[in-house]
Amino acid sequence: MKDDQEQVILSMHVRGLDGLCVGCRAWWSMLTPYPCWQVEWATSQQARTITARFLAGVR
Ligand SMILES: [Zn+2]
Repeated sequence: MKDDQEQVILSMHVRGLDGLCVGCRAWWSMLTPYPCWQVEWATSQQARTITARFLAGVR
């Protein structure tokens, strides 16, 4: 479930032609430079998940 949420965020919050986040503008009418904090969060969560899976696989 959590992975899906991160995927949704990453698919929605993409860089626009003007360098601003498309997702933030579409959802909240916020002009946020890309990457916004949502992308930063989702990316860090994904990295943590991948690392956890990697460590679990090693053991
Ligand atoms: Zn955004």
